[in-house]
Amino acid sequence: MSGRALRWLLSQAAAGVRPQAGARLTIVRHHRVYADGERRLYHLGVSETILARQLEACARARLLPVTVREGCDWLRLGEPGRRIAFSFDDGYADNVTRALPILERFGARATFYLTAGLMETRRAPWWDELAHALENAVVAAAAVTLGGFELALECSTAAGRAVALRTLLPLLRVPPAEQRARLDTLRDALGVTAPPPCEFAQWTAARALVEAGMEAGAHTMTHPFLSLLPPAEQLQELAASATLIRDRLGATVTGVAYPNGDHDAHTIDAARAAGFAYAVSTRAGDCVPGAPRWSLPRRALPEGACTGPGGRFSEHMMVAELNGAFDWLRGNRARAAS
Ligand SMILES: [Zn+2]
Repeated sequence: MSGRALRWLLSQAAAGVRPQAGARLTIVRHHRVYADGERRLYHLGVSETILARQLEACARARLLPVTVREGCDWLRLGEPGRRIAFSFDDGYADNVTRALPILERFGARATFYLTAGLMETRRAPWWDELAHALENAVVAAAAVTLGGFELALECSTAAGRAVALRTLLPLLRVPPAEQRARLDTLRDALGVTAPPPCEFAQWTAARALVEAGMEAGAHTMTHPFLSLLPPAEQLQELAASATLIRDRLGATVTGVAYPNGDHDAHTIDAARAAGFAYAVSTRAGDCVPGAPRWSLPRRALPEGACTGPGGRFSEHMMVAELNGAFDWLRGNRARAAS
């Protein structure tokens, strides 16, 4: 039985089970919002319809999504109850064109963590460059050595490209200079010369988010794995991104999302030094009073987390995900932060 089928079955049994009492903030972690039916090699998000169904389910549960900053402010009051905050990482243009109208239709707000440096320079992030290279390879197959691994990449079929992507992603979790070198090696081996398109929002478009009452947060300048950088470079990535967002959008920036959730003690020191009031990670869990302000947990809610048999939206699965019912299944215990 697949993990998704098992979760669907368990969610039917878990319906009605309520999370523990007390004050609880669940921060949902999203990325892209795709057109219905759109499938990407590196698929990182939900369709418009699934996002709308998620917001419908929130409305039925009387949980109107707020920004992360609003959720944190509420949590500090310590009143019993539950709040939900929606967040979108990276700053893709579809966050403005697709997510924003859906959020507004439901009267919901959200936080958008923007990769400010890449938005400014109009450069694609490394994972989009990787997918672009595989999809635009002029060779059907290639042998390449990356990080000491000899790889045989097959690029002529969708299945081959998917396998290649899964193989290559962990090999690119390296410091920026080495990552650049590996991407260049890969592009050479695949015969790709055209630069990948940047699908991030233009600043002029991103302004609509702030004007609609959404929170703009930082997501570094270039989306590095922060813990692989010296402390001074970590601080620069965090501080400069907040400054650039303030300059371009006129927004107050008090929050930051660590790229890939990657952070260490130096990152937390840098987030404090850069003046952020809070930071979010990718660790699964809920926020309770006293949660660590510079490493708040979030919950991913991709299509696979809320669609059951036949790809149909399952409100039971979504509720179970939000209640942390499957944390044990993924070996990722909900550590309600203390
Ligand atoms: Zn990101």
